[in-house]
Amino acid sequence: MNKSNRDSIQVFDCQILAHYQFEGNQYILTIDSPEIAKATKPGQFVHLTVSDALAMRRPISIMSVDVENGTFDLLYKVVGEGTRQLADRKVGEVLSVIGPIGNSFKMTDKKLPLLIGRRCRYATNDFYCARY
Ligand SMILES: Cc1cc2nc3c(=O)[nH]c(=O)nc-3n(C[C@H](O)[C@H](O)[C@H](O)COP(=O)(O)OP(=O)(O)OC[C@H]3O[C@@H](n4cnc5c(N)ncnc54)[C@H](O)[C@@H]3O)c2cc1C
Repeated sequence: MNKSNRDSIQVFDCQILAHYQFEGNQYILTIDSPEIAKATKPGQFVHLTVSDALAMRRPISIMSVDVENGTFDLLYKVVGEGTRQLADRKVGEVLSVIGPIGNSFKMTDKKLPLLIGRRCRYATNDFYCARY
């Protein structure tokens, strides 16, 4: 933990407000936490308990925040036991969430060169990342 985020990481009990499944075993989870929504900067993640049965938390990036409504969204894919148990969590249940964690990045409207594989692409904040 560096000095700048030493005072900003906290543990919260947060209610699940929405939980939708999408193709490819992917889910979007909407979580109620005005504190995390307000404090999150682009590129940060949370560390959450997926169930009472698994003590080890799982890290998931914060996909988007809604500061006005005090919520944030996570997009995750089921790959193992932890994310499988997370997928079983229902609306109204409460998760223990540590966050926001990690070094953020600065948003810019300037086009920046990105090297992806052997190809150079130009990215903005709306960049959609595809594999080459
Ligand atoms: C900082 C950070 C941010 C992350 N953000 C996201 C996110 O936004 N969305 C998301 O879906 N995941 C994210 N992940 C990955 C996520 O934390 C892991 O997928 C999750 O911890 C796996 O837990 P599990 O118990 O389901 O799988 P495990 O039981 O830990 O792993 C089961 C099997 O899946 C493999 N595996 C584990 N993770 C992945 C993976 N990501 N892709 C393919 N195979 C994998 C393992 O090698 C193992 O063979 C992030 C990880 C980090 C470190």
